[in-house]
Amino acid sequence: MPDLPLEELLTLDRRHVWHPYGPMPGRQEPLVVESASGVRLRLADGGGELVDGMSSWWSAIHGYNHPVLNGAVRTQMERMSHVMFGGLTHEPAVRLAKLLVDMSPEGLEHVFLADSGSVAVEVALKMCVQYWRSLGRPGKQRLLTWRGGYHGDTWHPMSVCDPEGGMHELWRGVLPRQLFAEAPPAAYEEAYADHLRAMVERHADELAAVVVEPVVQGAGGMRFHSPAYLRVLREVCDAQDVLLVFDEIATGFGRTGALFAADHAAVTPDVMCVGKALTGGYLTMAAALCTPRVAEGISRGEVPVLAHGPTFMGNPLAAAVSCASLGLLRDQDWASRVGRIEKGLRKGLAEAAALPGVRDVRVLGAIGVVQLDHPVDMAAATRAAVREGVWLRPFRDLVYTMPPYVTEDADVARIARAVCAAAREG
Ligand code: PMP
Repeated sequence: MPDLPLEELLTLDRRHVWHPYGPMPGRQEPLVVESASGVRLRLADGGGELVDGMSSWWSAIHGYNHPVLNGAVRTQMERMSHVMFGGLTHEPAVRLAKLLVDMSPEGLEHVFLADSGSVAVEVALKMCVQYWRSLGRPGKQRLLTWRGGYHGDTWHPMSVCDPEGGMHELWRGVLPRQLFAEAPPAAYEEAYADHLRAMVERHADELAAVVVEPVVQGAGGMRFHSPAYLRVLREVCDAQDVLLVFDEIATGFGRTGALFAADHAAVTPDVMCVGKALTGGYLTMAAALCTPRVAEGISRGEVPVLAHGPTFMGNPLAAAVSCASLGLLRDQDWASRVGRIEKGLRKGLAEAAALPGVRDVRVLGAIGVVQLDHPVDMAAATRAAVREGVWLRPFRDLVYTMPPYVTEDADVARIARAVCAAAREG
């Protein structure tokens, strides 16, 4: 039970607390979660339970209050909760780096442990720009991405988010000006591949890197595209001497049905960002992995260090729980779990296609999306899902779900019913 009575807690929340993408404190009505276990969130004051259809934004893949993850944090806490990472190292961080290198696409060997996804993207972009400076080519400092992307809320990641109609439109004219290809079509089209090639070729002299979300564009619109575009990007980046960054913060660790979305295309980027599910949703940690080419290039420069070092870099609690989460992923046959969720979502969301106002229904791995032909009424859609006993967070024209991998078939069916209800009423 929370120590504060519910009304008081909500009053204080309204008065003082800013929520993600929230308006001023005081203009929102969040639900109060008292505890969470398995795939269920328990609401305060006898508010009942909700099946979590969001995995706390892609992260809680093993569900909440997991005994193995709890144990990993507890054991590590008894040894050391945190210690600075400058000049010191420790086993959880080293073990985590080795695990990440072993499971990542072949060729990624060096790991920067960041403290959030946005920071991992910042670091990845710094790596790329610094690489070319170190090689005496400071003119290569711009970034190319495709429209419809999302890479985080800090400055440089915002500059490679969709510039129009996206979350960061407000900042147009202030952010660094990057280069944007059209958004990738769902299926492979040679004309679009040519467009990508032409963009990279035309701007190669000023490009440090191409940065994209592979296969799934998440918060920018929940769009899926052919993995073949990743091979096109790899080829043209190699030919034109441009680095390639994959942001796998949402897609990493099995969500799309492959361990990494890059695996759908058997492509290794020069830099790869991971986060979210890394810690099983327990603590905040992310990482940027790079190849020896990038790391060695940076160390040949006039300033031979990667100038980034957050206070909580390599946090031992987060590293220990990440190791445990990756162990669970390996031992608990994530592929068949994700496959079952995919099947359940395909079946359960099929009826949404016939609903009035629905433009598209798409499922990939443990991701299900219903796109409307109008902006969703967030409050009405959320209420409809809650009435079905499910937590969803619809936004823009989207009602979507990415459940924890441990979600049983009956709960997947329930989530799908809730998505349909939210699409109907939103
Ligand atoms: N990249 C992608 C693809 C993401 O989905 C997100 C988070 N939504 C981020 C980066 C930023 O991660 P964080 O919220 O941990 O800063």
